[in-house]
Amino acid sequence: MRPVLYLDLDDTLVAWPDGRRGSPRGARGGRDFLRWALERYEVRWLTTWCPNGRMEPRLLRDLARMLDLPAEALQAIRGLDWSHSQCKLDGIAWMEHVVLRRPFVWLEDEYGFGDRERSFLDAHGLGGCYLHVNVSTDADALRGVHATLRDAPPALAPGAGSAPS
Ligand SMILES: [Mg+2]
Repeated sequence: MRPVLYLDLDDTLVAWPDGRRGSPRGARGGRDFLRWALERYEVRWLTTWCPNGRMEPRLLRDLARMLDLPAEALQAIRGLDWSHSQCKLDGIAWMEHVVLRRPFVWLEDEYGFGDRERSFLDAHGLGGCYLHVNVSTDADALRGVHATLRDAPPALAPGAGSAPS
């Protein structure tokens, strides 16, 4: 079974180099990264663009245009519904990962990943599943994460138990 990739968008795949009042654009390497990821991961949205996990067609087209990808390539991507709590921790399928041991990674900027998120992951030995990226402050951040994932595919943290057979 493929690992899961939870994907934030603003500052992660979409750069805001001039702040939120400027114009967003696709992150450097975003197109290559997403195409690569879609072949290797079950990609799930974890973004305020669609807290219910289903991206509106208009937003999907905007994102596809920024990334220079056909909208169809992104159409099948879903996320969990965390709109009821507005807490991204509710957008991650913990049963699937903590109990069933399915590996995952979470790409997120520092705004979406604070003390609460850090301590929850650490408490379950999953701190290594979080990858920081902010392409608005570091244009090559996503390329760096891409290289990291290429070299070291995600695995649940050692010592957290082995996968059930
Ligand atoms: Mg963000």
